[in-house]
Amino acid sequence: MRPLTEEQIRSSFVNATEQQLAHLSMPGLHETIWEEREYLGWRSPHSAHLGYIVQWLGGEPVGIVVRSSTATLRPGIAAMCTLCHSTQPATQVRLFTAPRAGEKGRAGDSLGTYICESLSCSHSIRIVPPYMASQSRIQERGEAMLERLGAFTRRVMA
Ligand SMILES: [Zn+2]
Repeated sequence: MRPLTEEQIRSSFVNATEQQLAHLSMPGLHETIWEEREYLGWRSPHSAHLGYIVQWLGGEPVGIVVRSSTATLRPGIAAMCTLCHSTQPATQVRLFTAPRAGEKGRAGDSLGTYICESLSCSHSIRIVPPYMASQSRIQERGEAMLERLGAFTRRVMA
């Protein structure tokens, strides 16, 4: 993905409360390998349930705040992330809800989806068996993932 600056990230959120923005903790941008990321996702170190996803959408940085559900899937089964379609142990996939932007979100309306618990789908699609690890295969999966994330984000913004 194209690199993002701290300013771009801070002003990108479409569904954050003022309080969440005030307490926003940045990920380590200097350590980020942008070429190996489709979107920037990180969990808040201050709040166990908060997470952030920032992507380039239609040429603009767009961020959404997500909240992880406290309920875990049953351990021992496999679960699939709806963004990267990686199949993982159920404990590594979690239901996240995103408050909808604007009035709807303030009224409590939110959308939910299952995502890799660490919000690092870009990593998930790169740690795969060798037969799935070709550059073209990873690129294909990355593009499909971004499309699904874009669709979800547009629903949050609608
Ligand atoms: Zn994922």
